[in-house]
Amino acid sequence: MKVVDVMLLAGTRPEAVKLAPLAKALDARPGLRPLFVHSGQHPDMVEQALAPFERAVDGWLEIPPRVSGTQAELMSGMLPALDEALRRYAPGAVVVQGDTATALAGALTAFWLGIPVVHLEAGLRTHDLTSPFPEEGTRQMISRIAALHLTPGPAAAAKLRAEGIPAERIVVSGNTVVDAVLAIAARDLPARDPALALLEMGIAEAGEQLMLVTSHRRESWGEPLSHTLAAVRRIVDAHPRVQVLFPAHPNPAVRAQVETALREVPRVTVTEPLEYPDLVRALRLATLVLTDSGGVQEEAPTFGTPVLILRDTTERPEAVAAGCAWLVGTDADLITSTAGRVLSGELHAATSANPYGDGSAAIRSAAAIEALLGLADPAATANLRATAG
Ligand code: UDP
Repeated sequence: MKVVDVMLLAGTRPEAVKLAPLAKALDARPGLRPLFVHSGQHPDMVEQALAPFERAVDGWLEIPPRVSGTQAELMSGMLPALDEALRRYAPGAVVVQGDTATALAGALTAFWLGIPVVHLEAGLRTHDLTSPFPEEGTRQMISRIAALHLTPGPAAAAKLRAEGIPAERIVVSGNTVVDAVLAIAARDLPARDPALALLEMGIAEAGEQLMLVTSHRRESWGEPLSHTLAAVRRIVDAHPRVQVLFPAHPNPAVRAQVETALREVPRVTVTEPLEYPDLVRALRLATLVLTDSGGVQEEAPTFGTPVLILRDTTERPEAVAAGCAWLVGTDADLITSTAGRVLSGELHAATSANPYGDGSAAIRSAAAIEALLGLADPAATANLRATAG
């Protein structure tokens, strides 16, 4: 039987986490073989994120060292390397995930070579090109040239239909992040980070409450992040049983700001980025999560853990609608008061069913890719398309 390679392109941690379950589902299809390629956008993060899924990178792009840190420099480094890799591997399709520079570079290069582009987590929109920037523009551009759009839910599918994308090119797969979080939670690996292990003891033995905080988005840098950090200090002051765990993003500017603001604050632990199983463990143990991360917002509802979203808008409104997340922006008063209501037990997640997926998104995605490549049974294909409405 002929085996077709499907290139999964990842350059950042969330792409690796969300593509890992798809690689496993593709492994299970005899006619398809996943090929994980690291774009080099965030060196080491992809390998680290894939390790708990017992998966390694199959190929790396050789991109020149970055000097200016601009999007233009990154794109112009990746495009020729991708062109070379796509000609060498000649995959049947390229899967790009989300709205990163890697995803755009992969989609463009594959499109130029006539290789079908599969967009995983397609159809997210704020319809505001300035927020999130540049992600909103990036994902809209990918939608123009993708051959198959795998959407995390029906709302995203409806947005793509409204942009004129034919229904037969859209499959509502669900978000593979739910597959990822369930797979890792099922392994129940003990905490690796010593700070998390210590906090875990405090929760079990002294009834402490864990508040997990992450903030790294470009639009949060500077002033908005300082409001969030002020709120964290006020929450700790007002709630003596609260312990804060803040895995700081490797971005040096964000890291320095977080460390300066929280260094002297009791019951606040700032760590390096946690390995994915530790992050999942922290989500399960936490009483409350404060985050501006899309991935973390999507993962927490699996454990019924309430989330305060540190953004003014979200392109993932499902958790807010389901009553397991609240959009609080970076207003210190609103963060402090809403957190207080959660920590005191007045406010809790309305459901522990994750609104972003049921854990089978990767299987649906692999089936849709098989159909795209003409390798599937036509009856199964018709069934999949029917889901896009
Ligand atoms: N994550 C992790 N360790 C951390 C922080 C986040 O493994 O210390 C994971 C998180 O669980 C999620 C992904 O990284 O799966 C989200 O990445 P990030 O917040 O960088 O990006 P976003 O989701 O906002 O695109």
